[in-house]
Amino acid sequence: MKIRVGFGFDVHPLQEGRPLWLGGMQLPAAKGAVGHSDADVLIHALCDAILGAANLSDIGTHFSNKDPKWAGMDSKFFLKEVTRMISERGWKIENVDCTVTLEEPKIKDHISGMKEVLAPLMNITVDDVSIKATTNERLGYVGRQEGVNAYAVALLSKPE
Ligand code: MG
Repeated sequence: MKIRVGFGFDVHPLQEGRPLWLGGMQLPAAKGAVGHSDADVLIHALCDAILGAANLSDIGTHFSNKDPKWAGMDSKFFLKEVTRMISERGWKIENVDCTVTLEEPKIKDHISGMKEVLAPLMNITVDDVSIKATTNERLGYVGRQEGVNAYAVALLSKPE
């Protein structure tokens, strides 16, 4: 059995009047994330972790933010596609672990919903999806609510 770990990071600016998509769900929030697609920072970090583990470059390479085809795109599509790409090469996701840094809103009550949405897109169970959140202790751009970060790791396996 071959085992590989991958890491992903993403950041998006926050702006008033924009929808906040996070972990495949639209959350009630005063500010939403700005981006070419739906700007779901958690899914983008996850995609990069999975692609990284399979050494398949990054989300921007496969779904360019210059390509009008992906404008306003639901990021769940990207996660499903990334899972398909690694599956075609014989890889299976074992588990993922993510952390979101965000001051507002508190996402604790939405985490179980996010797991339910994301797990099937990666062909894993909710037990294999860990999502954590922390504030940035009011420091820096996250602390000033100017942006949101997400970090993710993914473990992939493949029979030898
Ligand atoms: Mg992004």
